[in-house]
Amino acid sequence: EQIEEQDDPDQLQERPPVVTVMGHVDHGKTTLLDAIRHTNVTAQEAGGITQHIGAYQVEYEQKKITFLDTPGHEAFTTMRARGAQVTDIAIIVVAADDGVMPQTREAINHAQAAKVPIIVAINKMDKPEANPEKVKQELMELNLVPEEWGGDTIFVPISALKGEGLDELMEMVLLVAEMEELKANPDRLATGTVIEAKLDKGKGPVATVLVQNGTLRVGDPIVVGNTFGRVRAMTNDNGQRIKEAGPSTPVEIIGLQDVPQAGDQFKVFEDEKKARAIAEARAEKQKQKELAQTQRVSLEELFQQIKEGDIKELHVILKADVQGSVEALKAALEKIEVEGVRVKIIHSGVGAITESDITLAAASNAIVIGFNVRPQPQAKQLAEQEKVDIRLHRIIYNVTEEIENAMKGMLDPEYREKVIGTVEVRQIFKVSKVGTIAGSYVKEGKITRDSSVRLIRDGVVIHEGKINALKRFKDDVREVAQGYECGITIENYNDIKEGDIIEAYVMEEVKR
Ligand code: GDP
Repeated sequence: EQIEEQDDPDQLQERPPVVTVMGHVDHGKTTLLDAIRHTNVTAQEAGGITQHIGAYQVEYEQKKITFLDTPGHEAFTTMRARGAQVTDIAIIVVAADDGVMPQTREAINHAQAAKVPIIVAINKMDKPEANPEKVKQELMELNLVPEEWGGDTIFVPISALKGEGLDELMEMVLLVAEMEELKANPDRLATGTVIEAKLDKGKGPVATVLVQNGTLRVGDPIVVGNTFGRVRAMTNDNGQRIKEAGPSTPVEIIGLQDVPQAGDQFKVFEDEKKARAIAEARAEKQKQKELAQTQRVSLEELFQQIKEGDIKELHVILKADVQGSVEALKAALEKIEVEGVRVKIIHSGVGAITESDITLAAASNAIVIGFNVRPQPQAKQLAEQEKVDIRLHRIIYNVTEEIENAMKGMLDPEYREKVIGTVEVRQIFKVSKVGTIAGSYVKEGKITRDSSVRLIRDGVVIHEGKINALKRFKDDVREVAQGYECGITIENYNDIKEGDIIEAYVMEEVKR
């Protein structure tokens, strides 16, 4: 495939900004997107304002603005993991009565990792409980400092419900867009990204795409991800048939051979034969890439890349059981420096490791450190699929030691923990003198009399210790294998409950 042809600076023209709205659930994203659409309907939209596709354009002070209406944070997770950068500006919605919540942090981290400028919309200002100062205070801790406090983050108080503050918000979007100097060349074959796609019974594959450069026209031979076709018809966000779409315009197209994926890039070619050849070559390349990716993003690999000078910092996503641990680990990790290479925490939080953590890790080439927490089952699966390295620890020193050792080129500590089995507690028996016996079932692997155990409740490690007794019926046994039931008592610990998970592990010597 040829190199992208460069645009002559003379041919570049201003293009509308592409905006994604993100924030915690119920903070008002949908209400805001609806309000913006309703108050800024373009004049020619006589036929009502029903939204037909997952993106729309509005006009404000004779300038267009494109809003992506992707579910969740897809523009920043799935799409970015596929190499697509579609957003120019992120609006982070924070409810003034609720303040910064986990998904607010997540949204900010995604936007910052993608280096997209942020505008904060403090929503629900109409509520008597609204406390914008508290929101600003909380966001300052995330390095979003309002201008009046000496920072450069734009905050706009709004009420999406009452339609208040929207003009100012639009003005700020245009202001940031101007500073970003967003340009494209409308006078070339179109390129862009798929926002969403589906198979329609009547129409066949249907894709909503965002034109990012050039102009897309009906009849254009097009390659989209690994598929291709000819643009048979185009529909805009008002459901109107259109013949051409310029930079930053979202349109729905039909005429593709297959259904592409969100985040796939598209490119128009002069003729269909070429488009087909390129789509086939891409499919092949994709296969190769997937093969190569099976060895991606392990801690050791990352250090290899650092040594080769490809990357300058180690990206880490940090999840821990309590905020205190997050802070302590952050401080400890940020202190590490080996030969100029440092650790950069791109996201941290309290609670189990989630799918979103893994997507962010994959998109930003990061490893995930879990401190007294475990990945959720879907997250574990996704990490395997995306080859994201998850390191689980319970002692701060071990975390820093592992990172430092890896930085120094030592692959592993001398001893490494090896999980040998997972056991589910199904019934509790309190026996005087003996203590609490956990009637358990070995779900995976095995448990041995001399293994150490870790007690996990709701994804959080609540106790760590040794086994006191391991029994099958009345007999002491040395080990119990997968699929069998057993009775377990833990040394000096009686607070075990039904539904707890016991993880059995041993320390294993690692050969250098
Ligand atoms: P989303 O989950 O972020 O998309 O949030 P929604 O837009 O669905 O809003 C969640 C709830 O908050 C709904 O009941 C909205 O009516 C309400 N809401 C949204 N914006 C405002 C606002 O500015 N003021 C008030 N009082 N309520 C709002």
